[in-house]
Amino acid sequence: MAPVISDPDELREALGAAQVGFVPTMGALHAGHVALIERAARENACTVVSIFVNPTQFNDPSDLARYPRNLDHDVEVASDAGADVIYAPDAETVYPPGFSTFVEVGGLTDRWEGEARPGHFRGVATVVTILLNTVRPRRAYFGEKDYQQLLVVRRMQRDLRLPGEIVACPTVREPDGLALSSRNARLTPEQRQTAVALPRSLFAMAAAAKEGERRAANLLALGRQQLEEAPGLEIEYLAVVEPDELAPVEEVTPGTRVIAAVRLGDVRLIDNLELLPADARSTA
Ligand code: AMP
Repeated sequence: MAPVISDPDELREALGAAQVGFVPTMGALHAGHVALIERAARENACTVVSIFVNPTQFNDPSDLARYPRNLDHDVEVASDAGADVIYAPDAETVYPPGFSTFVEVGGLTDRWEGEARPGHFRGVATVVTILLNTVRPRRAYFGEKDYQQLLVVRRMQRDLRLPGEIVACPTVREPDGLALSSRNARLTPEQRQTAVALPRSLFAMAAAAKEGERRAANLLALGRQQLEEAPGLEIEYLAVVEPDELAPVEEVTPGTRVIAAVRLGDVRLIDNLELLPADARSTA
C-alpha cells in the first residue's frame, strides 16, 4: 500500500529528486481517476496522487458537505492503480491561518462553468498552483471530462510558469456512455437511467457532424431535442464551441467541441465531446 503523507515538507523529503507524475484528485476514486493514475505510473518513475476535497472550489456549501470521503478506500484504489505516494493534506495545511493569495485566470473563466459556479475556477486555480508547487511534478494528469478546467489549468501553468507538463487524458465512460463522476452515485436509479440522455445527445451531435452537418444551430437543435425528451432533466447549457477559449461558433471545424451541463434533481452533471477530430480534413 502506498504511504499516505499529509505534511508538505515530509512529502518533499520523500520525493527528493524523483521524476514525478502527479494526479490531483478530490478522492472518491473511480475508473476515470484510475485511468489517470495508471497512465502516470506508466510514464513516470514515481507517481503521486493527491486526495484533497478543496473547500475553495465549492460555490455551494451543501455540495461540499455531501462530497463523498473515504480515504482508506481511495488509498487502496490508488495503490492498486500504481500510486507510489498519496498526498492527503488537511484543509489547514493547504490554507493556513491568514491565507490570502488566490489565482484568477481571466477570460476563459467568465463563461460556462465559471458563470454557473462563481468562484469555482479561482478555487481550482489556487489549489492546483499550491499542489504543483508542493509536488513539483515532471508531468501532471488531468481529465478531459472537465474540459474547461483542463484549459484553465493549462493557461495558468503557462502564464505563471508553474512546474510540470499538463497531460490531458480522455474521458472514461460507463458502458452506456455516461461519463464517470463521483456525483453519479447520488442519482436515483430512475435518474441514472435518464442521465444517459446527456452522452447520447452529444454522441448524436458528433455523428451528425461527421455525416456532414456543419451548422452549429442544427446540431444544437438535435442535441437539445434529445435532452428535452428526457424526463426530469434540465439543461443548464448546451453549446458548440471552439476548443481554446470555448467561445460559441456557428460552423463546426476540426477540433470544435460540444459542452453541456444538466441537472437531474439536485445533481449537476457535465460532459463534453469533440464533434470532429482535430486533425480531420473537411470532407463535406
Ligand atoms: P476530481 O476528483 O473530480 O477533482 O477529478 C480529478 C481528476 O480526474 C480531474 O483531472 C478530472 O478531470 C479527472 N476525471 C474525473 N472523472 C473522469 C472521467 N470520467 N474520465 C477521465 N478523467 C476524469
